[in-house]
Amino acid sequence: MSHNRRKFLQTVSLAIAGTFTAAASAQILQQTITQQTKEIKKMTHEVAPLGYAFDALEPFIDAKTMEIHHDKHHAAYVTNLNNALANYADLQGKTAIQLISNLNAIPETIRTAVRNNVGGHVNHTMFWQQLKKGVAEPTTGKLADAVKTSFGSLEEFKKQFADAGMKRFGSGWAWLIADGGKLSIISTANQDSPIMEEKTAVLGVDVWEHAYYLKYQNRRADYLAAFWNVVNWDDVAQRFAEATK
Ligand code: MN
Repeated sequence: MSHNRRKFLQTVSLAIAGTFTAAASAQILQQTITQQTKEIKKMTHEVAPLGYAFDALEPFIDAKTMEIHHDKHHAAYVTNLNNALANYADLQGKTAIQLISNLNAIPETIRTAVRNNVGGHVNHTMFWQQLKKGVAEPTTGKLADAVKTSFGSLEEFKKQFADAGMKRFGSGWAWLIADGGKLSIISTANQDSPIMEEKTAVLGVDVWEHAYYLKYQNRRADYLAAFWNVVNWDDVAQRFAEATK
C-alpha cells in the first residue's frame, strides 16, 4: 500500500470514528434528556416520614390512629394528587403550596381533585410537625403576648379554638391564624386550607373522624381536650415568628 493510500485510509477511519463518537454522544445526550424529562413527569409529591414513632403521642393520640392517619390517609391524598396531575406536565413542577395558593389556575376538570388532595397534603404535612408531647405552653414571649392581647388568656384561646373544632359540622379543621401580630380563629371544611384565603395558620387541628375515632369514637370534645397535651408549642411559636417578621 502506498504511503498516500495508507494515509487516506487512516484519515477516513478517523473521520468515521469521529462521526460515530459524535453520533453516540448525541444519542446518549438524548437518552439523558428523555430520562430526566420522565423523572420530572414522575410522581412529584411525597409524604415525608412522620419524624417520630407512631406511639409517641400516647395515650392522647394512639399509635394505630397515627399509623393509619399518616400511612393511609395522608398517603392517599398524595397518591390522588399525583394521579390528578398525571396528564398536566406544566402543573407537575409546582410545589403543593404553589398549587393551593392559586387554584383558579388549575383546569376545571381536575380543580376539585387538586383542591381536596393538595389541601389534604399541605394540612397534614403541617399537622405532623405540630404534634409533640410534653412541650410547655407559652407563658412568655411574642406568642404568649399575642395570645393574651387577642383572646385575653391562653385558657380563653383554648376554649374558643376547641369550640371552633366542635362547631365544624362534618369534616374539617380549626385554625389559629396570624395576621401580623393579631391572632384569630377560623375553621375550614373538608381539606380546605387557610392558604386558599391567603391566611397564615400557626396552629391547626384535624377534626375529621379519622383523626380520633379509633380511640374517642364520637367524642370529638374529648379528643380536642386531649389535643392540648400534644401541641408542639415550639412549632407554633416558630410559625408565629415567621408570620410576624
Ligand atoms: Mn386527617
